[in-house]
Amino acid sequence: MMQSTLSMIRLLALSLCICLLPGCTLLKTGVALMQSRDAFAISKTDTNVHYLAGASPEIAEQVANRVAAVIRQKREVVEKAHGATFTHAPQIYICHADCFVRFVPVTVNEPAAQFGDSIFMNIDALLKREARGVLPLEDILTHELAHLLLYQTAGAMGYGRVPAWFREGVAQQVARGAGGSEFVTLPEAARMLHNGKHFDPAETGSIFVNRTAPSYHLTTPMFYRQALMYVDYLKASNPAAYDQALHDIVTGKDFHESFRSAYGASIASYWPGFMASIRPLVQ
Ligand SMILES: [Zn+2]
Repeated sequence: MMQSTLSMIRLLALSLCICLLPGCTLLKTGVALMQSRDAFAISKTDTNVHYLAGASPEIAEQVANRVAAVIRQKREVVEKAHGATFTHAPQIYICHADCFVRFVPVTVNEPAAQFGDSIFMNIDALLKREARGVLPLEDILTHELAHLLLYQTAGAMGYGRVPAWFREGVAQQVARGAGGSEFVTLPEAARMLHNGKHFDPAETGSIFVNRTAPSYHLTTPMFYRQALMYVDYLKASNPAAYDQALHDIVTGKDFHESFRSAYGASIASYWPGFMASIRPLVQ
């Protein structure tokens, strides 16, 4: 019964993707959705954490234990930041890179991804990141949980209508900066912004094509860093309005309307002030 319900959910998700995605992504998404998750073991300490031993069983179990140890606390962090709660327990799937790319239509270098109603974590990419001295995988979990909360509460369509720059900015803000932005410094990002190379703060968001780094001719880390800087600026400008807007967005209200209603002005109208604020960083 449970299995048939899961199959039905995946079929519905697949149907939605068929409507929304372009060719190659569509094919990869369809293949990923049809993968069976039966081989994943359930963590002894948290039944919502699943892992596949793969080539290094001990390492897979260690990562699963680390995730299981913090998931409750990370959920609370994400819920508090959004003023909203998960509709049901997040399901986390942990495995090595070769398995990760079978389940998620992204590249082998991605450390983790929220895909539909699940989070997948790539052991190899996560440990490679940690070896570079950036924030630990627990913070990447927080980042993905922020995406998942929006997906659960706003629904797949509501999620799709929130511009990618805002989704990534919020997820990194909640996760202490964990995400692509760790690989770009503030002065580097400020220089790019100053030179007019940045995302569009008036982006409307679209369930069909949601513009990300390549759309703006930015690297992914640069896109993420700029997004985080602007989201931080919006929050610092009016914390109460920010909290209100974020709460409205996660509950599925229109993205731009939520800002206009909370701030009394459009989200893009804050851009000139933001650009003035980063000027001291430009070297
Ligand atoms: Zn993200």
